[in-house]
This record gives sequence, C-alpha cells and structure tokens, in this order.
Amino acid sequence: MTETQSHEVVVLGAGVSGIYQIKRLVDLGIDAIVLEGDEDLGGTWYRNRYPGARFDSESYTYGYSFSKEVLDEWHWKERFSSQPENLRYLNFVVDKFDLRRHMRFDSFVDRMAWDEGERLWHLGLANGATYTARFVVSGIGVLSVPTPPRYPGMDDFAGDAFHTYWWPKQPVPLAGRRVGVIGTGATGIQVIAEIADKVGQLTVFQRRPNWSTPLNNSPISEEEMDDIRSRYDEIFAQCAVSPNSFEHVPDPRGFWNVTPEQRRALWSELYAKPGFALLAANFPEIFLDEAANREVSAYIGERIRQRVSDPEIAEKLIPQDHGFGMQRLPLETRYFEAYNRDNVHLVDLSLTPIERITNRGIQTSAAHHDLDVIVYATGFDAVTGAFDRMEIRGVEGQTLRDTWRDNASTYLGLLAHGFPNFLMVAGPQSVSGSTNFPRAIERGVDWVTGLIQHALDHGLTRLEAEAEAEREWVEEVVRAHERLLARRSQGWFTGYNSNVEGHQAGTVRYQAYFGGGPKYAARIVQVATDGYRGIDLR
Ligand code: NAP
Repeated sequence: MTETQSHEVVVLGAGVSGIYQIKRLVDLGIDAIVLEGDEDLGGTWYRNRYPGARFDSESYTYGYSFSKEVLDEWHWKERFSSQPENLRYLNFVVDKFDLRRHMRFDSFVDRMAWDEGERLWHLGLANGATYTARFVVSGIGVLSVPTPPRYPGMDDFAGDAFHTYWWPKQPVPLAGRRVGVIGTGATGIQVIAEIADKVGQLTVFQRRPNWSTPLNNSPISEEEMDDIRSRYDEIFAQCAVSPNSFEHVPDPRGFWNVTPEQRRALWSELYAKPGFALLAANFPEIFLDEAANREVSAYIGERIRQRVSDPEIAEKLIPQDHGFGMQRLPLETRYFEAYNRDNVHLVDLSLTPIERITNRGIQTSAAHHDLDVIVYATGFDAVTGAFDRMEIRGVEGQTLRDTWRDNASTYLGLLAHGFPNFLMVAGPQSVSGSTNFPRAIERGVDWVTGLIQHALDHGLTRLEAEAEAEREWVEEVVRAHERLLARRSQGWFTGYNSNVEGHQAGTVRYQAYFGGGPKYAARIVQVATDGYRGIDLR
C-alpha cells in the first residue's frame, strides 16, 4: 500500500475543464493535482475517436480564451475541427504550460468521503491509491458515461462491436464490411455520414429520427485565421451576450412581426450558414410557441424531402414526435444524402424492434441482419451519470447518488448542500450542458478558483451551499425549463435515456439551466460579489 497523499485541491478529470482548472490553481501557487481515470488527458476528445467526430461549435469559439499566447499561436484548420486535431490542441495547451506534471493518469476516483472533524475529503482510487484534499473540484464531463443498449445476446456477437465512445485507437477496417449502426443522435449522424461511402454495406437501426441541419464546415486558411486572431476579443464578447454562447445571436424582429415569406427567407439563409445558425440565430419564439415551432419544423421537413430521393425513406427521417430544437440538435454533413446510396439501408425499429444480438448480427422482429461490425451510437448517462458512478459520501454519510436519485439538486450547478468543499465545474443545473461548453466551463473554473482563493485568504476551511439557497436555485432551474416547449422532450436535456434505469420516458430530470449563458454568468458573479451569498463559509 502506498502512503496517502495530501493536497489542498484535487481536481477530478483531465478534460477541457480539468486542464483549465489546474492551470488556474498552479498559477496561484495552490497545491493541486489532477486525477484522471483514463491513461491520458483530453476527456471527451481523448475518447470519442469514431469516424466523423468533430466540433459542432465553431472551433475558434470552442478553444480556450484565457491565454493570448495560445490564441496567437494555434491555427484552427477547419471551422469545425475534428477529434484528432482537438486532442492535439488540448495537448498543445497542456505542454505549453507544463501542466502534465500536475496530472496523474489511470487514477479513477471511485469513492470519496467527507470527514467533518478534519474538514477534509478522503479519496479512494480504483488503482488502490488514496488521497486527502481540503477541496475537490470535479471536471468529469457531462457526456462521459456511455450507455450501450441492453439487448440479449450482445456478448455472442463474433464480429467487432463497440460503443462510439470506446471506438478503438487502432484503425477499424471498414472497407467491404457489413456495418450496423444503432442510434441516430448527434453521434450516429456523424458516424453514418462519414462511413457511408467507406463500408461495404451500412445498415442504420433507427428508433426515432432526429432533426438535423447542415454543419457547413470549411477549411480555415492562414489569412482567415489571421483575421479571426485579430477579432478574438470581439468573438468572445459576442459569445458572452449570446444565450447559447455562440457567435450566432437570435433574430430580434419577432416571429409574428414578419411575414411567412420573410421567415422562410431567414431560414433559407440560415440553412446555408455554418454551425448552429438555424437554431441560435432563429426567432426565440420557436422554442416557446407551438405554432411557431410547427412552422419551422415543416420548413426543415421540406428540406429533408428535397435531399432524400426515396419519399418513404424521407418520411422516416423526419421526426413526428417532437418539433425542431426540442432535443439537442445534431449537425450533419451529407447525412441525408447517405440514404440515397445503394449500400445504405434504414431499419425502422419503431415498426420492427431489435429482439436480440446474435453471433452473426442483429435479429429484429422482421429479419436477421448479417453484420461484421456493430456500432452502438446509443448515447450517455448524461450530466449526473459521471457523479453516480462514484461513491461520494457527504456530512451525514449519505451518498450523492441517493441524494440525486430522482433529480439533481445543486446551488448554481457549482455546489451541493451536504457535500462541503465539493465544487463542480460543469455540474448539473449549470449552463455547461445547455451552451457552448468551454465558454461555460471557463466561467465555472474562474468562479470556483475565486472561491477557493477567498477561502484560503480568509482561513476558511468549510464551504457548504445553504439548503434554502439551493432550493431556490433548483426552483429557478425548473422555472426556466418549464417555459420551454422542450420541457417534456425525450433527450438527454431532460435526463431521458432508455438504457439507464429510472431515466426512461415520463420522468423529467432537471439537468441543465436554460436561462441562458449571460443571465447565468451575471448571477454567479453577483453571488461572489455579495460575499458568496447562499454559501455557509466557516
Ligand atoms: P443521443 O443523442 O442520446 O442519441 C442516442 C441514439 O441512440 C438515439 O437515436 C436513441 O434513440 C438511440 N438509442 C439509444 N438506446 C437505444 C436502444 N437500446 N435501441 C435502439 N436505439 C437506441 O446520444 P449521442 O448521439 O451520442 O449524442 C449525445 C450528445 O453528445 C449530443 O446530444 C451532443 O450533445 C454530444 N455530441 C456532440 C457532438 C459534437 O458535434 N460536438 C457530436 C456527437 C455528440 P431514441 O431517440 O429513440 O432514444
């Protein structure tokens, strides 16, 4: 047994959040270390190596904003950069600031318990090591616990099978092979479009279609990158006032103040624009007003029909159970055109569900599909999943998992009552799940760092969210969520996941704050300015 190591701060996770968090702590001379379960850094960009994995935020709005040197030196080569490049970027940042020496890999924390007497967290790792820390900061991701389906016979399959999150590091041969993809969320849509012309046969097993609009990716030349560099301040200022923290800002004219022709003209313009334009530069009414949503959904349905040759297939690709923007929007590159290829087949699981996986492929209620590769693009136990798989025991010995069984409960998505000195960057009920992720986490890290610095400066050793302040925040999260047409949608925003017990349709979990990035930022800054109102500091 090795000796227990002690640090002022332990940061959980060496992904986008953990990297910036350790940078801030190291700069302040605070004794801190990052514990990462994987064998290397990068989090989501270390793991999701499936073909087609790329940003759907503009690369230059996704990158860190904290370092002028990084902004000046890094050249984003594509408007929506791909996974290998994104992982290179995170390594570039880490190497530039020599942060790797503050990181321990293969160090998954599977349990941690608060010691009220010592005012310390005791952490136990899957590898047997133990640590103590005054403060624990989690940067464990919102989509880091993959959920394969639970079909009988999955172990019997003789070919290659994996969840997209676990796509192997070594290249997977696809040429000439029969590949099945289960799932048509953002991941499935990326992988299907990317491999359609690289495989022998591709069979897509779709339970429910998703709305999806063009990514409109393009390379970024040296000259364009120079221009972006010169405008970084302006770009980040724009993200700071946009509800979803993108460059795109909502159309201010008012849905009902313009004619149907003017609305269609806007949508046609936005359909050709890059990224989330059609979602984020649209009329805000489409998220709130059923008639407005029906109209924009009908428009996008028309665009899908124009792109898919077989009218029957086109209808199957158009969602009927939810309107546009009601679930997290996947962005696509020639996704719909993939179905025009002779080697691509669509199986409608709503009519012919999967019965089992066999040693040779997939058996539905109608037919057996012979396959060499099965790709599970079946999503994640989102937001709370990464917390649930650790045993986190608070002041009374209660676990966070039990406390959050029906719904997360946090103060500002940053702290949880009963779990002192546990600070969450990208926690549930923050904006990290509902806005451009790095813009939210930079804010979260800055706030958490400020609070730790405040505690150290004032000799405070115990910080706990007050129960009443937390209750009020959860009420605010619920109010912001319930305003939306998406309030009952079956996507990870509402905690829906058919593969996780207790997360099925009919149960709503309030996972994210939907009041928008600017309002959230103003709120947490005000709380700090007010001497950390709502936090019991001792
Ligand atoms: P997802 O959106 O949850 O989609 C999962 C898909 O798998 C759905 O189509 C679902 O069908 C299907 N599915 C799940 N379990 C199934 C089962 N047992 N049998 C048949 N089908 C099943 O997951 P995701 O596509 O991995 O995306 C998750 C999130 O990751 C995205 O919303 C996004 O936030 C993020 N992401 C981002 C990017 C990017 O561009 N930066 C790319 C990929 C993902 P139902 O709808 O019927 O449940």
